[in-house]
Amino acid sequence: MEWGRSPLVFLRRLAPKLEPSRRACPARVFYLRLRVSKPCGESWCQQHLADQELFQLLEKVDIDLTEAARSKGCPRCGGKLHRSDYERKPRGGPQWDLRFSLCCGQAGCRRRQTPPSVRFMGRRVYAGLVVVLVSAMVHGLKPERVKLLRETLGLDRRTLARWRQWWLGIFLESSFWRAARARFLPPLCPKTMPWSLCVNFTVERRDRLLDLLQFLAPITTPAAWKELVR
Ligand SMILES: [Zn+2]
Repeated sequence: MEWGRSPLVFLRRLAPKLEPSRRACPARVFYLRLRVSKPCGESWCQQHLADQELFQLLEKVDIDLTEAARSKGCPRCGGKLHRSDYERKPRGGPQWDLRFSLCCGQAGCRRRQTPPSVRFMGRRVYAGLVVVLVSAMVHGLKPERVKLLRETLGLDRRTLARWRQWWLGIFLESSFWRAARARFLPPLCPKTMPWSLCVNFTVERRDRLLDLLQFLAPITTPAAWKELVR
């Protein structure tokens, strides 16, 4: 695990301490509920970032994406593609260690073809879901809660600021987003990216988070990423 602390410690740290339940009047129950209720987005963000089943599911989806790309053959020469994975250990929770990749077997081509991914985002060292969810939380949570989340992930303040700038600048201007944004009606608020994307996809549900990561998958390949770094 790449977490500074385990996710469980993280969850315990953020959750207010509950006193042992007493046989309580409704007012006290209401008071306790108030104390455990969390700001919008924080609960599902924490759940996703500690969800081992989700990590496994994302790995399976990446296998499918890789097989789909492999079956199409080399886009340059039509040659047969072979698996040629390379080492990538993303930070932020999941214990993945390989980025799935392909290589053309045709002599004279041998071109590498890295398929889209729901786990990695270009050359970001953090897992894609961390980049999406924590960047979104900047718009959804109070600064002190974001700080706690950031510290738990060992994420530098400047890194998060860079991600935010990236979503609000390069991402919005990318050919991917310019082509994709029309499918959202009413249009998503660009100033709160990627929070507005997360809300639109209702990512508190695991399957909907997966949908969002699949939607973003085209920008995760090294080829697409070239347009997205500056
Ligand atoms: Zn080829």
